Order: sequence, then structure tokens, then C-alpha cells
Amino acid sequence: MPEYAYRCAACGKSFAKTMGIMKHETAKVSCPKCSSKRVRQQIARFAAITKKKS
Ligand SMILES: [Zn+2]
Repeated sequence: MPEYAYRCAACGKSFAKTMGIMKHETAKVSCPKCSSKRVRQQIARFAAITKKKS
């Protein structure tokens, strides 16, 4: 399953959640530190795998 990286816009906490794509479509992610819903998704970590090609 892909891992999605988020950053909380309220407190600046960075965190990651692993979830299925279908769940990601509908999931309401909240900050584990302050429970704010104002989280911004960052670039998914698994996308970096393709960078290995040289
Ligand atoms: Zn927060």
C-alpha cells in the first residue's frame, strides 16, 4: 500500500499514513498531534522509487 505524507497546517507536524488508494480518496485525515483537519498532503513517498533509474 502506498504511504501518504502529510503536514499539518495548524501546528506544522509532519506525519505519514499508509492506506489503500480507495480509502485515500475518501479519508478525512487529521493531525495526530492537534487533531486539526487542516492537513496538506505532500508528495507520496513511493513516487521517489522511480528516481532510482540512472
Ligand atoms: Zn497539527
